[in-house]
This record gives sequence, C-alpha cells and structure tokens, in this order.
Amino acid sequence: MRKQVIAGNWKMYKTLSEAKQFASELKAKQLDTTNVEAVICAPALFLESLVNETKGSFISIGAQNMHEEKEGAFTGEVSGQQLQDLGVSYVVIGHSERRQYFNETDESVNKKAKAAFENNLTPIICVGESLEQRESNETESIVSAQTTAALEGLSEEQVKNTIIAYEPIWAIGTGKTATADDANDVCRSIRETILDGFGEEVASAVRIQYGGSVKPENIEELLSKEDIDGALVGGASLQVDSFVKLLEAGA
Ligand code: 13P
Repeated sequence: MRKQVIAGNWKMYKTLSEAKQFASELKAKQLDTTNVEAVICAPALFLESLVNETKGSFISIGAQNMHEEKEGAFTGEVSGQQLQDLGVSYVVIGHSERRQYFNETDESVNKKAKAAFENNLTPIICVGESLEQRESNETESIVSAQTTAALEGLSEEQVKNTIIAYEPIWAIGTGKTATADDANDVCRSIRETILDGFGEEVASAVRIQYGGSVKPENIEELLSKEDIDGALVGGASLQVDSFVKLLEAGA
C-alpha cells in the first residue's frame, strides 16, 4: 500500500511572517495523517523557521530546488548538504518552471536527484509535457524519457524512495486540470517506465503525484485513481483551509 503524499509548492509566495503563521495554524489542526504525508515546499529563506515551527508535528518541510554540488563557488545556490543540515527532508527537482526559466535539463535533474539521496533528502522529481506536445500525442514518450533520464544510475532502493510528480505544463496555474482518467493514464505509463527499468517491486513502491490546478473540488477524484498517489499543489496550498481539505482528501 503506497502512502499518499500531499505536497504544497509555495513557489515564490509569502513573507516570513505569513509562512510562520501558516505553519502554526496548520500544526494546530487535528488531522488523521496515518495514511497521508503532508509536505510544505517553501522558499529557501523560510526553511529554517518552518523546520523549527513544525518540529514534532505531522508536517515535513521541503525545498523547491537544490544545487547538485556539495559546496563550492556557486553564488546564490543552496546545496543538499545545507538543506539536510537545516532539517529539511524533501526537495522538488526539475519543476517545469525551473526547466523553462532556469535552463534545467534532464541531465541536471539526474545529478540533483543523486545529490538529494547523498544528503538524505527525498526528491520530488517533476515531469510533464507542454500543450504542444500533448496535442501532437507525445505526452507518454516525453514523460517516459524525462523519467528515465531523471532516474538514470539510481539504485533500486533510491528509486523506491523517489516521488515523481506528473505535472502537465498546460495545467499549472491555469485552472485547467487533466481529467482524472487522463492523469491516471500518464501516471500509469510512468510506472510502466519504472517497471521496465527497475522491475516490479520498485515500480509498485514508487509514489507518483499529479500536479496542475489541484484544488479541494477535484482532489478526491484524482486520488481515487489507482496510479495517483498524491498531489503537488501550487495555488491551493497557500491557504491553510484549502491545504487542510487537500490533506483530508488524502487521509
Ligand atoms: P497550481 O496548483 O497552482 O496549478 O501549481 C501546480 C504546480 O506547479 C505545483 O508544483
């Protein structure tokens, strides 16, 4: 049985005081999290405060990016070692916004995934097609190639502990969601790609999230699908009330 993971990706939103307020309100909620993991992926600046604020609670903290090197002359970057040292436990890697605006490639995503495991961080690796690619029926081949490249050289144990987030680019922040069946079909094809590369045991353990305009109104149907094991959520993770509803749907 795979445990659902509901992760909020705050992107470049909130001030430090708003972030702390969110964490203190969320941790006060009585939620049954036996069957769901709750993760907040926050701007790097807030990570230390959020780790402290949520210590001992059901909430885990994630970063939105990391550099693949342990340390070095990389102005403006944050390493996996630094994240681990703060008590961060997850890291989003290869979000489409980073691929699009910050030139991340399948190769850098793979390096970062390896560096994440070296630092005991669980990577949430994002894959997904553009509207153009979907319209030319390339979705499964694009997503499969991204998945294969991202996981290249990882051990079976590491892949089992990887989270893949399937985020169709055309569904991010647009209000357009893939239908639950379409999302599930792509998530299943990702699992088949992992099956081909790493075998049955790994493929059935790896968790695959859907992301792209997930909100309280559509999450239940998405999570009811066999190959969808959670959600990576932008806009609807920014308010405590809606994030709680998403967690309740996963519970
Ligand atoms: P929205 O939920 O705002 O569409 O964002 C999705 C996303 O990019 C999460 O990483």
